[in-house]
Amino acid sequence: MRIEILGARANILRSAPGYARHAGVLIDRSILLDLGEPGYLRRRPRQIFITHLHPDHAAFLTRKIAWTGPLYVPERTRNAPSAMLISRPLSIGVHRVIPVPTEHAVNGRSVGYVVERGRRRIFYSSDMISIHRRYYRRLGRLDLVITDGSFIRRGGLVRRDPATGRRYGHAGIPDLVEFFSRFTRRIVVTHLGSWFYADVAASIRRLAALGNDNAVAVIAGRDGMIIEL
Ligand SMILES: [Zn+2]
Ligand SMILES: [Zn+2]
Repeated sequence: MRIEILGARANILRSAPGYARHAGVLIDRSILLDLGEPGYLRRRPRQIFITHLHPDHAAFLTRKIAWTGPLYVPERTRNAPSAMLISRPLSIGVHRVIPVPTEHAVNGRSVGYVVERGRRRIFYSSDMISIHRRYYRRLGRLDLVITDGSFIRRGGLVRRDPATGRRYGHAGIPDLVEFFSRFTRRIVVTHLGSWFYADVAASIRRLAALGNDNAVAVIAGRDGMIIEL
């Protein structure tokens, strides 16, 4: 399996060379998870799966895009009327794509995706606070997890909507590393938040050190990073 991190930057103003593009993960040059930049269409994916309807993951919410191929979304949107809803696993050629509901947005659904090819399995969580215990079975044993790097502090930034009581936001990276270390030995952190940009080299080391407590390799993502499994 060939995994390419197309963009490693969160929805923030700061930027740095190599950490400038928004969410996108390309699997085996054919399955694109999130379309954070319209330019990702030039990679000619065969299918696009969107984790949630925030513009740094779904560029078509704020810009017109030229795409007529299969597009899967977790909920309907006027900006992509022909998109298909995904709620159950889907087999596409040699791949199987399994949506896993996540907790993240205040009024919107969000999912992460397990992508399987033969015995290889990866999970892209996108932005998240948590995953309900009932979905742990869908995660199972994972060769790689790609997750949310918005906040380095434990607890991240989680708020509660006063009207619905619903939580929204992002867990901290230490929380996510701890959580995912029961499913995998390798974690790539993308969607890097402002904290990362003050001193990129030090931030990369800080992420690597987080893995030591959990006996898991934690790696900072980068625009264009390729991982072969
Ligand atoms: Zn985001
Ligand atoms: Zn989001």
